[in-house]
Amino acid sequence: MANENNGETSEKKSLNFIELAVENDLKEGKNDGRLQTRFPPEPNGYLHIGHAKAICLNFGLAEKYNGVCNLRFDDTNPVKEDTEYVDSIKEDIQWLGFQWKDIYYASDYFQQLWDFAVELIKEGKAYIDEQTADEIAKQKGTPTQPGIDSPYRNRPVEESLALFEKMRTGEIAEGAMILRAKIDMANSNMHFRDPIMYRVVKHPHHRTGNTWQAYPMYDFAHGQSDYFEGVTHSLCTLEFEVHRPLYDYFIDELKETPTYQNDGNYRPRQTEFNRLNLTYTVMSKRKLLTLVKEGLVNGWDDPRMPTICGFRRRGYSPESIRNFIDMIGYTKYEALNDISLLEAALRDDLNKRATRVSAVLDPVKLIITNYPEDKVEELEAINNPEDESAGSHTIEFSRELWIEREDFMEDAPKKYFRMTPGKEVRLKNAYIVSCTGCKKDENGNVTEIYCEYDPNTKSGMPDSARKVKGTLHWVSCAHSLPAEVRLYDRLFKVENPGAEQEKDFRELLNPDSLKVVTNCYVEKYVAEMKPYSYMQFQRIGYFNVDKDSTPKKLIFNRTVGLKDTWSKISNKE
Ligand code: ATP
Ligand code: MG
Repeated sequence: MANENNGETSEKKSLNFIELAVENDLKEGKNDGRLQTRFPPEPNGYLHIGHAKAICLNFGLAEKYNGVCNLRFDDTNPVKEDTEYVDSIKEDIQWLGFQWKDIYYASDYFQQLWDFAVELIKEGKAYIDEQTADEIAKQKGTPTQPGIDSPYRNRPVEESLALFEKMRTGEIAEGAMILRAKIDMANSNMHFRDPIMYRVVKHPHHRTGNTWQAYPMYDFAHGQSDYFEGVTHSLCTLEFEVHRPLYDYFIDELKETPTYQNDGNYRPRQTEFNRLNLTYTVMSKRKLLTLVKEGLVNGWDDPRMPTICGFRRRGYSPESIRNFIDMIGYTKYEALNDISLLEAALRDDLNKRATRVSAVLDPVKLIITNYPEDKVEELEAINNPEDESAGSHTIEFSRELWIEREDFMEDAPKKYFRMTPGKEVRLKNAYIVSCTGCKKDENGNVTEIYCEYDPNTKSGMPDSARKVKGTLHWVSCAHSLPAEVRLYDRLFKVENPGAEQEKDFRELLNPDSLKVVTNCYVEKYVAEMKPYSYMQFQRIGYFNVDKDSTPKKLIFNRTVGLKDTWSKISNKE
């Protein structure tokens, strides 16, 4: 079940537990009243909406409390990292509306970290272990059972120093040895049982090339990087809670080494918060990469992807994402966030932002038989009823129009308020018309619909106030443009694909997540809009201009429908 209890209803938002802690620290004068956070992505994939939560928190706190937030690339695993990811991460953060002060790379600290590791070896607090990964795993023990010491644990310092140097220069094969911290094989926190500090990786690094053949592990790089930069509040997701004692351990050791001694009262503090998890999608970079690599989606920015660039291409506004993250808040409990909540935030924002236009996705011709053949009227269409400053544009009206096939029924039930013979409907921004009949082909498919208009009912005339139940959208056949429309739906057909352990997540993909419709017509005004522009196709939903759209081939993406159709479906079930 999705978490229902994560909407914020009160007018004035109360502070979350991290803001409370920060305010308290500032009040107590900790760190001389300084607040410094960082967003620390590993450049091994594109950012997803989960990352947006960490971004909003880190950058948001710095903004709110006059602090500093830096961007730090945690690039300690050269095999998976790439500058393509570095560039996309920067772009996505800025698109969300945030700006870092400085950019740092964990790889900038490779020398410092190395020197610190050497220091620990010399102090007898680290050693080179030559066992296989399997052997080491077997000695780990369990949380209730102590581990077993490695036979290399007490080897001479000189030996470890010499081998460590060889790890760096490439003389040691991958997996042949590692550097481990000598802490406590019986500690109830498994992360203290002689954790790995360095391993050999023979792969060029996107910034340091082949200079290093041995790389620090996350636990040996993250806290120290925070410390080098002067981070005061190191915020991360709950799974790192169990790493916190080790985070503190290495920083305390670092503070003792002569090179890094500072005034003694500074130490970054790690605080954990719950991850963002979204229904009907997966959030792990590994799985997203699989979808991209296997061509199950069309790249990282496929509008069905939960990546920031996917949402951008789909037509989400940065504000809608930020508002949603604000609504779900920060807690200490894991939750599954309902995508309908994100979509509600999206509709709410796009309602204020989107230009109203007309498009017909499944066209059938409507002929107004009493309207002059060569007459064309330019009618006024309001761009956004929610925003007067958005102005208006003109839309051409003529004798032959396209309307939606589903807006006509030959034998309609009583409560059908769209077009049916003998009844009146209003054509949006234009006239009231009365349907007179239709023409069908030999298979019984409607090919043309006929109606007559009442010239006294033009929008704004007194007779236009006449009570008519239905209003239909339309475009003029001679004044509209053909377009391709991509109808996107949820990428997965189950609520929590990540939780279905027994099934491959690929089997859970929604086969109907993309429907391409090619015989659509849009009003001409739309052709002037730039890629990513926000629009509402009236009566249909919110759409945007795809980045691949050209004047010759117009392409639109459905961002979200006007209503939550999924809740209707699940209520029926
Ligand atoms: P993934 O597990 O999706 O591969 P990651 O945690 O490995 O992501 P990083 O690049 O290490 O990705 O993450 C950068 C920052 O974003 C970290 O501080 C991490 O805690 C945070 N983060 C990652 N995923 C989420 C999420 N779903 N919700 C909130 N914060 C997240
Ligand atoms: Mg990570």
